[in-house]
Amino acid sequence: MTTIACRLQAVNERVARAARAAGRLPQDVTLVAVSKTFPLSSISEAYAAGQRAFGENYLQEGLEKLRNLVLPDISWHYIGPIQSNKTRPIAENFSWVHGVEREKIAVRLSEARPEHLPALQVCIQVNVSGEQSKSGVPPEEAPDLASAISRLPRLKLRGLMAIPEPTSDLELRHARFRALRELRDDIVRRGIALDTLSMGMSGDMEAAIAEGATMVRIGTAIFGARAAAPPA
Ligand SMILES: *Cc1c(COP(=O)(O)O)cnc(C)c1O
Repeated sequence: MTTIACRLQAVNERVARAARAAGRLPQDVTLVAVSKTFPLSSISEAYAAGQRAFGENYLQEGLEKLRNLVLPDISWHYIGPIQSNKTRPIAENFSWVHGVEREKIAVRLSEARPEHLPALQVCIQVNVSGEQSKSGVPPEEAPDLASAISRLPRLKLRGLMAIPEPTSDLELRHARFRALRELRDDIVRRGIALDTLSMGMSGDMEAAIAEGATMVRIGTAIFGARAAAPPA
């Protein structure tokens, strides 16, 4: 087995163990392999080992990869920041967008989503840590944004996404993920069907799964340590 295939297997085992420990089914947690900064060959290796969902967060790099890797059943998730002048290529090429945080961006994504493709699946990014620097809507604004997005014809609102601040405080880690789940439940009670909680990365996937993550976005644990981000 290649290194990536071994690591992928180990991550799938971590996900399954965490799901079972929480009384959940392993198949209820989707693994998105975050391949940003890694070459096509790394993605091909993971694909050959059975991985199908991949996450990219630098647009040019992601577009180049998905144009060069046309493989059956592969799905591409855009997980990076969204500039309003980049909504068209995102809407034309990806299946999922995880970081929607403004209605204006959602409208543009919906307008640009080609008719021949299924609706673009989106998550609203929520700032559960309350830091000034982090992106995401404040939790109290999420219900209104959800209701606006749910009316857009070419988008399918799937759920919420968060990237809590890294912390070694396990209680706090759980509290941040729990806050996202409770917000999701609150929005569902208001009549908007959300089935996705995109939360958990290499360092905190167990806590996220314990608190109800249905999608974990894992890079380092599959592909190894990343070099510095490419220039914007
Ligand atoms: C890079 C990235 C990840 C993956 O992080 P790892 O710690 O390498 O698993 C997940 N989500 C987002 C939004 C990212 O930018």
